[in-house]
Amino acid sequence: MSESEGTARFRPETRLVHGGTLRSQFGETSEGLFLTQGYVYDTAEQCEARFKGQDPGFIYSRYSNPTIAMFERRMIELEGAEAARSTATGMAAVTTAILAPLKAGDHVVASKALFGSCLYVVQDLLPRYGIETTLVDGLDLDQWQRALRPNTKTFFLESPTNPTLDVLDIAEIAKIAHSGGARLIVDNVFATPIWQSPLSLGADVVVYSATKHIDGQGRCLGGIILSSEAFIAEHIHNFMRQTGPSLSPFNAWVLLKGLETLGVRVRAQTENAAKIAEALAKHPKITRLVYPGRSDHPQAATVKKQMGAGSTLVGFEVKDGKAGAFRCLNGLKISRISNNLGDAKSLVTHPATTTHQRLAPEARAELGISEGFIRFSAGLEHPDDLIEDFERALERV
Ligand SMILES: *Cc1c(COP(=O)(O)O)cnc(C)c1O
Repeated sequence: MSESEGTARFRPETRLVHGGTLRSQFGETSEGLFLTQGYVYDTAEQCEARFKGQDPGFIYSRYSNPTIAMFERRMIELEGAEAARSTATGMAAVTTAILAPLKAGDHVVASKALFGSCLYVVQDLLPRYGIETTLVDGLDLDQWQRALRPNTKTFFLESPTNPTLDVLDIAEIAKIAHSGGARLIVDNVFATPIWQSPLSLGADVVVYSATKHIDGQGRCLGGIILSSEAFIAEHIHNFMRQTGPSLSPFNAWVLLKGLETLGVRVRAQTENAAKIAEALAKHPKITRLVYPGRSDHPQAATVKKQMGAGSTLVGFEVKDGKAGAFRCLNGLKISRISNNLGDAKSLVTHPATTTHQRLAPEARAELGISEGFIRFSAGLEHPDDLIEDFERALERV
């Protein structure tokens, strides 16, 4: 296999197309899909050297595989990380990044506005293994500061948050974490690598659900952890080899092809989201709208400081609570009801009855997830069709 030259000196669009490509002796244009569990060795000596780490090459696809290595390398070059490990799902990436470095007696601080399964990991799973956790209002820097303890090892947040699209100040929260000797892990799914680079803002680790924008076409699950070489070597490498949350080479191949068009899709979807936000903001049936690209966003200054543009997501509240939200969702013909996001197809979610139904009503209210709240994930359709679809559906509210 011949390796492409690093693409780090090129702009992101170029890195997305060429980064990490490995070419076999056949000179294929498209990335090769290596559906192999294992590898054979020319001699017993070569095999021994491979296991000792003295011979470069692959050993077993739970550890790595050429197609998976290409996906990781392309993400490393895009994100400006030193190293990465890809996982079967976004939740495998989040769970591994949080859990692998910790032991009983350690302490984790997380923003309480989290993707439902991330909240489960922090709130329910970690304490079962003797890891203490504190949930804070991520927008309130004093709460992060006050939550620091001598045994705090990890801060964890997502920004923009799901589903209310609050924007947390990553650079300031990283400073607080580092002042207490803790690391900051950022779930960057809602921002995408196109609009936000947490490592350059001071975060230590970035995780993605590649299921979302990176695939972006509703086909497969995947995840990735990106960070320094030291963090991967010390905490992630062996944990993943031995416990096996590995990505399938087939899914890595799909995700590699997804990366080629990530920039084009995310830009077009963001433009669509901004147009829908503009059209819906003053609609008489809508009582509240949040979009990180608008000047009326509560953290507009932070958006300007740390994000390249708004987001592919819009949150809004319709009149008449759950009944109104359901009438709107059921009236849509183009945007489909789903709990997914980041897809080429526009998707709408009612968080109170789906992604956040596990929470007590008071906890939902505290997060701003009212009964009438809808999360819209902009796809690639024509924006005027999407706006007309919403206008028709909102007539029923
Ligand atoms: C979807 C999502 C995850 C989990 O990813 P899966 O690939 O579904 O496991 C984690 N965090 C955020 C913010 C997500 O949107």
